Amino acid sequence: MGGGDPDAIVVGSGPNGLAAAVTLALGGVLVLVLEARDEIGGGTRTAELTLPGFRHDVCSAVHPMGVLSPFFRELPLAEHGLRWIRPEASVAHPMPDGPAVILTRSLERTQAELGRDGAAWRRLVLPFLEAPHALLSDILAPLRVPAHPLAMLRFGLRAAFSANRLARLLFREERARALFAGCAGHSILPLSQPLTAALGLIFAVTAHVEDWPVAAGGSQAITRSLAGYLASLGGAIETGCRVERLADLPSARVVLFDTSPDQLARIAGEALPSGYRRRLARYRYGPGAFKLDWALDGPIPWRDPRCREASTVHVGGTLEEIAASERDMYRGRHPERPFLIVCQQSELDASRAPSGRHTGYAYCHVPHASTLDRTDAIEAQVERFAPGFRDGILARHAMGPAWLERHNANYVGGAITGGVADAFQLFTRPVARLDPYATPNPRLFLCSASTPPGGGVHGMCGFHAAEAALGDCF
Ligand SMILES: Cc1cc2nc3c(=O)[nH]c(=O)nc-3n(C[C@H](O)[C@H](O)[C@H](O)COP(=O)(O)OP(=O)(O)OC[C@H]3O[C@@H](n4cnc5c(N)ncnc54)[C@H](O)[C@@H]3O)c2cc1C
Repeated sequence: MGGGDPDAIVVGSGPNGLAAAVTLALGGVLVLVLEARDEIGGGTRTAELTLPGFRHDVCSAVHPMGVLSPFFRELPLAEHGLRWIRPEASVAHPMPDGPAVILTRSLERTQAELGRDGAAWRRLVLPFLEAPHALLSDILAPLRVPAHPLAMLRFGLRAAFSANRLARLLFREERARALFAGCAGHSILPLSQPLTAALGLIFAVTAHVEDWPVAAGGSQAITRSLAGYLASLGGAIETGCRVERLADLPSARVVLFDTSPDQLARIAGEALPSGYRRRLARYRYGPGAFKLDWALDGPIPWRDPRCREASTVHVGGTLEEIAASERDMYRGRHPERPFLIVCQQSELDASRAPSGRHTGYAYCHVPHASTLDRTDAIEAQVERFAPGFRDGILARHAMGPAWLERHNANYVGGAITGGVADAFQLFTRPVARLDPYATPNPRLFLCSASTPPGGGVHGMCGFHAAEAALGDCF
């Protein structure tokens, strides 16, 4: 920092922390980012978790929101090493009977996959494909008067449904219902809850705008490119620096926290009124995740080999099965057949595994702070749609909620997207306030995925929080 104190400090170097730092630096503010771990990146780290030469995405893997982020799209991240690799298909959804459903950017091809429901799928997504970037900039923002009210109204009329209900209303056959359920399953909510259709719809639409990509070399490339750009703007990052108390920080006009709400309360202590801290303590983190990474001696032997075309495979069968799995999980149980999100980075990026070998990545949602080992259940689910899969496993690495929380203090109880995003908490993250990023202390802001618009690698929480700080303090 050239010896001087920074104007702004960002605690945490996840995609939101770095997005906040870049926004501040672009506003002419001298920024210092402090990161607890020895490596930057938060949920975008990449590591050899299994065997030498197998490079696994520790957390985030596939990035529809990264490539479409209204903020990232404006930044010269390619000049700082970010290269997106696009698959042939965004999603493959293996079905218990018959071929998998393949979701590609082409509406025509997807329509053909869905047979009698093809036209209904087209009617669902087409209105949003006219100006998708405008719609996304409204969706990936805090609650406010939308810039494109008609598109948002049209979106809201469908998004307000539960995924279960919307899929049953629109589609007559299992294939389209299952495809929609798989997209909505990312909500980590029972699919009978209102608003779960929103995520189903967002992911369905994004797949027709961009092929869901992976980052060349691993997800770490996303935050490394942000860090490179930040450095070019004069910002600095210190790693291995866990912030425990506000008093330990160099003096700065503002501090932005890329942390969980409970850490904000703990670190800020008396600098925040006790009533606000109590409200932060009531924040709901929700279910966790159990993740497996595999070193594989070849590609996953899907019964329908077209599944290899997709960066993401939704494994869970029919809408009914997926809904039952997510409902049971949300009620604190461990379903025998969990809904899985499987990613196939090495199919797209040869740098992830030694020649001829592959990495495998899958996780399921589990109850908050669950300690049950889900390895067998996950592998049995993959095996169900890819017979012989287990024979190809050279090594595996497992991580449950406790591992995730040790890896990153933001994953409270293993929650991977910054907290429950149901109808009550989606717009009131971390507490109900006109400006969700600001706190009662005018110097302190929250900028993590526990603020709107929530989880995912898009940097929009950080961008909006930094805009709030720039408006209030500079
Ligand atoms: C298993 C898993 C799979 C996922 N898959 C995807 C996916 O495919 N696509 C997608 O878009 N998203 C995915 N996500 C979600 C995504 O990773 C997160 O939503 C995103 O990383 C949130 O970014 P963030 O900047 O808010 O916080 P984080 O990425 O969590 O970063 C927070 C940073 O702050 C640091 N920190 C915390 N406390 C302190 C402290 N006291 N002092 C200093 N530093 C601190 C942490 O070490 C960390 O580096 C996944 C997450 C997980 C766990």
